Amino acid sequence: MNLPDSLLEAAMKNRENTAYYFMDKQTTYEELNVSVNKFASGLAKAGIGRGDHVALLLGNSPHFIISLYGIMRVGATAIPINPTYTPSEIAYILKDGDVKAVIALDQMVPYIEKLRTAAPKIEHYIICETGAQLTEGMETFSEVLHSGDSDFIPVPVNSEETAVILYTSGTTGKPKGAMLSHGNLYSNARDIRDYLKMDSKDTVITTLPMFHVFSLTVVLNAPLISGSALIIVPKFSPKEIFRVAQKYKATIFAGVPTMYNFLYQYAGSNPGDFSSMRLCISGGASMPVALLKNFEEKFDVVVSEGYGLSEASPVTCFNPLDRPRKPGSIGTSIFNVENKVMDEFGNELPIGEVGELAVRGPNVMKGYYNMPEETSETIREGWLYTGDLARMDEEGYFYIVDRKKDLVIVGGYNVYPREVEEVLYKHPGVLEAAVIGVPDAEQGETVKAIIVPRDKQVDRAELHQFLAERLASYKLPKFIEFLEELPKNSTGKIMKRDLKNRVLQ
Ligand code: AMP
Repeated sequence: MNLPDSLLEAAMKNRENTAYYFMDKQTTYEELNVSVNKFASGLAKAGIGRGDHVALLLGNSPHFIISLYGIMRVGATAIPINPTYTPSEIAYILKDGDVKAVIALDQMVPYIEKLRTAAPKIEHYIICETGAQLTEGMETFSEVLHSGDSDFIPVPVNSEETAVILYTSGTTGKPKGAMLSHGNLYSNARDIRDYLKMDSKDTVITTLPMFHVFSLTVVLNAPLISGSALIIVPKFSPKEIFRVAQKYKATIFAGVPTMYNFLYQYAGSNPGDFSSMRLCISGGASMPVALLKNFEEKFDVVVSEGYGLSEASPVTCFNPLDRPRKPGSIGTSIFNVENKVMDEFGNELPIGEVGELAVRGPNVMKGYYNMPEETSETIREGWLYTGDLARMDEEGYFYIVDRKKDLVIVGGYNVYPREVEEVLYKHPGVLEAAVIGVPDAEQGETVKAIIVPRDKQVDRAELHQFLAERLASYKLPKFIEFLEELPKNSTGKIMKRDLKNRVLQ
């Protein structure tokens, strides 16, 4: 099976069911399937087919879904890109990814001349509904859609062919294109669907950006092949999330921890209602246990944490639904996927010991596009090395200790920033916290905490005392800085690299 065929199957079974709500307008599975077919046919007529690469510069919208599935139905490869990247970041991916066509938001039109110069091989620019002035060589999304036929016969694809290339910085700086095959994407969507028991009775809030793999598999592909309804929320805001949750009786919400923090804070002054929710999913970054517990208590919901990375399509672990979920843990291996904690020589470590998390399964990428060396550094003897440090308990639950590269070594002792952050989140005056290592003449490195306070004043001496009661002395932050906000990427993850660069400037 693959995603385009599975969508067709879901559409046959759930013709009249809602595929998605967007701007409070409902679209059925049958309507979605017809649009996907027409768009695929329009692409084929424009000469786009097997082996071609098509970039998506789109926000959360039906255009994204129709484009993605249309591209897959002609046997081409989609490259979703964050549309808020700078033109030079976008140009790098367009060139590196050998892109033939671009489907873009109309806000991108002013940049397109620049992109044309930087990536001259691109033959088509397809612009989504537009007030913008189109120039030669640009077509509108509707023109492509309406040029197509609804009885288009999808190009058969095999499971090894590349369906999507996702650019990720991974553990090193330069963006690399993780090639995810049809088999990779389908297996992970299916395994998440089955693990989380998603079905046509579910209504899922899709606010995580669709160009990111967390959203793509967990709140887009998995629900669509389950016959669930999506509520597409283009821009995250607590007010909008509570509004749509109530209006459509949403059953599943997925977010990164910073989103949970915003929802929790917002509901402090406004009554938010999550009573229809059967499952709240957290992933993308570690969920502070104090926040998880506060959130669950306030909304009377279950928050379940999972873990993944672009190179694994992405999910490898999730807290199971039929066994206790453990706060602070990313859960157990999902169906068909193996996780192991390895030492530096690739040997599995005993229970409780900390090492690098490695993953094997049908979800693991084919490799990085045109980067055989980086691929063989990352996938060794069939195992994908994640760059994350983890341990496993005696019941097979995994715990992310931290990213390997975020580890701070203070005078020879390992300090895992996450451990310090967990304690900071327990302090009532702390709204958000990030802990990093900074150079230190005596100890090599030392710990620095960057904090967004809940109210204006946090008593430093009292905070220090609070930490000293809970952490060994070498783990205590030597420096504490207060900021009004922390830098975050478009998914909402805190950008530790930016915080470290600030210190070094
Ligand atoms: P990306 O490829 O952008 O999805 O980022 C993957 C990285 O996000 C992983 O390698 C982890 O460092 C981090 N990550 C994802 N989920 C979690 C989690 N539940 N806890 C801690 N880190 C996570």
